[in-house]
Amino acid sequence: MVKLAWLNGVFLAADEARISPFDRGFLFADGVYEVTAVYDGRLIDLDLHLDRLERSLRELGFPTPPDRGEIAAVHRRLIVDNDIREGYIYLQVTRGAYGARDFAAPAIVRPTCFAFAEAKSLINTVAAREGLNIITTPDIRWARRDIKSTGLLAQALAKTQARNAGVDDAWMVGPDGFVTEGASANAWIVNQDGDIVTRELSSTILAGVTRARLSSALSDAGLRLQQRAFTLEEAVAAREAFSTSATALVAPVVRIDGLAIGSGRPGPVTRRLQGLYFSAIGADPARDAPWLFQES
Ligand code: PLP
Repeated sequence: MVKLAWLNGVFLAADEARISPFDRGFLFADGVYEVTAVYDGRLIDLDLHLDRLERSLRELGFPTPPDRGEIAAVHRRLIVDNDIREGYIYLQVTRGAYGARDFAAPAIVRPTCFAFAEAKSLINTVAAREGLNIITTPDIRWARRDIKSTGLLAQALAKTQARNAGVDDAWMVGPDGFVTEGASANAWIVNQDGDIVTRELSSTILAGVTRARLSSALSDAGLRLQQRAFTLEEAVAAREAFSTSATALVAPVVRIDGLAIGSGRPGPVTRRLQGLYFSAIGADPARDAPWLFQES
């Protein structure tokens, strides 16, 4: 089936979408993006994603964000016309093309807006069931990681390094020895005291929508969250570790740099949080994730 995409107000076959090589997204990574999960044909937390998109655009000095109602309608049509039950919608907004390569951004912005849909299992995945084996890499990114920039070279290199090392993913570590976040996810641990810990929000990490939703689900369940940075040493000595993102949801991390975390299997707190998150997005853990209940 030809995938339907959307470019600058027009729905078209994804492989027919064309943009100018002078687009500032291409020349300078002068753009931002969002990835919104689709579960059971529904968008998960679209409002939070569009809030973050608008914030990212504001931080980059875009005068006006794209029309929110139109963007939401585009998301819904991409789900229906591509027949997506489970997957995600990708949306990118760049500062557009100006026929020249000028570092300084033009005063009048004519953005390029692009969106496409991808079907993908989110809940019943090997990562969710078995956990991720990850490596760590130095965090070599810029200082505004709170902006969801399309400048993803450092993350692409980290993920390539992970793949070349035969593992699933990478977490990034700052020069101070503290974990910042995953290459495309927020990083969490359950330490030896049983505390659930994830780094506090600042310009050092992206404010994950999944992080926000899981934080409220766990506090509704009476669990407490410590928002503070943790070191790689603390992570390796933790009882459990996991990553959160719109497409991996809550993914156990069972091995870091070759060292088993806890038992080397997804732990009970992570399992509980997976269940809480799956329920929060309208899934039925007993039906959709029976493996959550099948182990100690
Ligand atoms: N941190 C980084 C660097 C990311 O790229 C992502 C997602 O792409 C996240 C965290 C998780 O954010 P979200 O939960 O909104 O997908």
